Amino acid sequence: MKKDYQVNSEGYYGEFGGAYIPEILYTCVEELRENYLTIIQSRSFKDEFDRLLRDYVGRPSPLYLASRLSEKYGCRIYLKREDLNHTGAHKINNTIGQILIAKRMGKRRIIAETGAGQHGVATATVCALMGMECIVYMGKTDVERQHINVQKMEMLGAKVCPVTSGNMTLKDATNEAIRDWCCHPSDTYYIIGSTVGPHPYPDMVARLQSVISEEIRKQLSLQEGRDYPDYLIACVGGGSNAAGTIYHYINDERVKIVLAEAGGKGIDTGMSAATIQLGKVGIIHGSKTLVMQNEDGQIEEPYSISAGLDYPGIGPIHANLAKNKRALVLSINDDEALQAAFELTRIEGIIPALESAHALGALSKLHFRPEDVVVLTVSGRGDKDMETYIREMNRF
Ligand SMILES: *Cc1c(COP(=O)(O)O)cnc(C)c1O
Repeated sequence: MKKDYQVNSEGYYGEFGGAYIPEILYTCVEELRENYLTIIQSRSFKDEFDRLLRDYVGRPSPLYLASRLSEKYGCRIYLKREDLNHTGAHKINNTIGQILIAKRMGKRRIIAETGAGQHGVATATVCALMGMECIVYMGKTDVERQHINVQKMEMLGAKVCPVTSGNMTLKDATNEAIRDWCCHPSDTYYIIGSTVGPHPYPDMVARLQSVISEEIRKQLSLQEGRDYPDYLIACVGGGSNAAGTIYHYINDERVKIVLAEAGGKGIDTGMSAATIQLGKVGIIHGSKTLVMQNEDGQIEEPYSISAGLDYPGIGPIHANLAKNKRALVLSINDDEALQAAFELTRIEGIIPALESAHALGALSKLHFRPEDVVVLTVSGRGDKDMETYIREMNRF
């Protein structure tokens, strides 16, 4: 029998996934699980979602044949341009979808966690759009590091709550958001920013992001005369842009899947976010997956030059793809990502987000045939990373 890499009826991807949640959240998560598929598949949701993706986000995002990059790597490289979306990345696809679900479930109050602030901004944006109350939990360290995003969220009308527990970063912000949800289960909807968290979140977020692979299929048909590529390449933090990129191809073994995780300063240096390579099976934020942890099961703080990739867990979808060797997982170090970002900028005139630069960094580690069709998702634009790029410019 052919393997199925989509979620099963119990919310698992192989041994990964599930919903490991405190009793008090059971009703909330169960309510969402019972409703999300019906809502997503309803005509009214589809119409509103499609309309907003088209007129507000600016979809479909182009599939751009990068000819100079292709020449350099000896194959046909297409860039899926999520960097051109409103708010500058793929995250808006998910937040629009989830706020429409929240509305249909009668929720009025939106909460979210954020690390670098990108998901916070995407959530604050859709709350402004829909006139909903928005509370964003963000580690105090991140609040200080990501000042502009905090100001954007506030300008959009969100309340940013600095979290002072733990290392005061993403994991702590997520814990705080879960705590809030426990206190306000009836009127509050929790918009999770990636394919993480308890079932049904990973599947729900993957479905909302699957507009990416749906478009790739149509665009490849028109531009290449066949609707599938030989390679799909994406970076993975929690895994949402990758999940969206591969969604319609996940069971199509003609398509090779390459996931780029953040190696940081190197996987042996203790300063890394390469969760798939360094993680052990554990439970984080309601999901059984690979987790960066010490011998006592304490979560280890990940490190990457890219703030959007330093999550100590990984989506259960991706943990399962890696375990079954359906995906090739490469770890791309800070310097390799920077090198790739400067390369794309100089030969294609596109400044990518640092996260996306990790996907680009995978190109030099693969061996292509001239006829290979490669689709690489540029998950976001580099505006937010300009300080880092300016600082590093003379090294590259
Ligand atoms: C947040 C972010 C990521 C990482 O999140 P995923 O859920 O793994 O996609 C990647 N790229 C950009 C531009 C981001 O903002």
